[in-house]
Amino acid sequence: MSDCIFCKIIDGDIPAAKVYEDEHVLAFLDISQVTKGHTLVIPKVHKENIYELTPEIAENLFKVVPKIANSIKEQFEPIGLNLLNNNGEAAGQSVFHYHLHILPRYGKGDGFG
Ligand code: 5GP
Ligand code: ZN
Repeated sequence: MSDCIFCKIIDGDIPAAKVYEDEHVLAFLDISQVTKGHTLVIPKVHKENIYELTPEIAENLFKVVPKIANSIKEQFEPIGLNLLNNNGEAAGQSVFHYHLHILPRYGKGDGFG
């Protein structure tokens, strides 16, 4: 989608710090690091939200999440980790290309929750 910021990242038109990439999925650091290592995982096809994901897109995405989580755990050494996905403006979604937040946690006062 031409006016989608995440599609532009996939196409290489906007730079991003890539954490993981394969044929179907891209993971990159969130530009606004809520906690250190805050990462977004997105499908390479433009789908607005969870309701639009096909089982195949969801499978391709979620099957690599443990690998990405483990590499974040090794690199940033958090003591916990949240997975979060906002769907719809009322739920806090601001970019309308499906994305899963991976939020490493470092204890009280780490900036989230
Ligand atoms: P949402 O609020 O939709 O769940 O999350 C959107 C996320 O995308 C936000 O955490 C925001 O910081 C991040 N974001 C928005 N624009 C960019 C960008 O151009 N690059 C990167 N890396 N992250 C972005
Ligand atoms: Zn998009």
